Amino acid sequence: MGKVIAIDGPAGAGKSTISKLLAERLGFQLLDTGALYRAVGLYLRRKGVSYDISDAKLEHELAGASVGFENGKVMLNGEDVSAAIRTVEAGNDASVFSARKPVRAFLLQMQRDAGMQNDIVAEGRDMTTVVFPDAWRKFFLDATETGRAERRFRQMAEKGTPITMDEALRDIRDRDRRDSGRDIAPLRRADDAVYLDTTSIGIEEVIDRILETLTS
Ligand code: C5P
Repeated sequence: MGKVIAIDGPAGAGKSTISKLLAERLGFQLLDTGALYRAVGLYLRRKGVSYDISDAKLEHELAGASVGFENGKVMLNGEDVSAAIRTVEAGNDASVFSARKPVRAFLLQMQRDAGMQNDIVAEGRDMTTVVFPDAWRKFFLDATETGRAERRFRQMAEKGTPITMDEALRDIRDRDRRDSGRDIAPLRRADDAVYLDTTSIGIEEVIDRILETLTS
């Protein structure tokens, strides 16, 4: 088993950027589990699967999906979908389908296997609670709703697919409701996770604080 740094938090709290930089600094592999859920969401959308599909049929559909990482790219059945999964729509599909048991079961072992082979920074919604309950270190990154919507607004503009501030806020609220309200693996702060509010501190400072915790 490698060392696992598990990081959870709501959408827009800065998890992706911080986890990526942290992994680079430490020479750990990055496990972006949101990307896996997004790739599954994209697969199901392309197959025309509706949100109310039964569990049995959903499990059957998933048998035809192969998702994973290759040289830092997100792959879906041999295709690089790294860019295609970064839309608001793909985020919504991921958040709806990720509440379903067959989808979570489909991705669970793959995530754990990544932690068996390497030292990793694993980021998502249930890293500290379900996937890696015995992680070496655990963090919960948070920020105010407005701070997270502003971050999402800036990210989408930088990507060249701008959304309005109202849309960003709606997206964040919808995802919070679904990610925290679902029955299976809901987003929650683990008792033994270090809590960091990133609303008004810069990325470098968050990373410094995480690094300090690792050595203390
Ligand atoms: O983190 P990201 O926004 O890419 O994740 C997309 C969606 O995938 C989240 O809103 C969440 O519903 C789902 N997800 C999850 N469990 C994870 C990672 C992501 O349910 N470990």
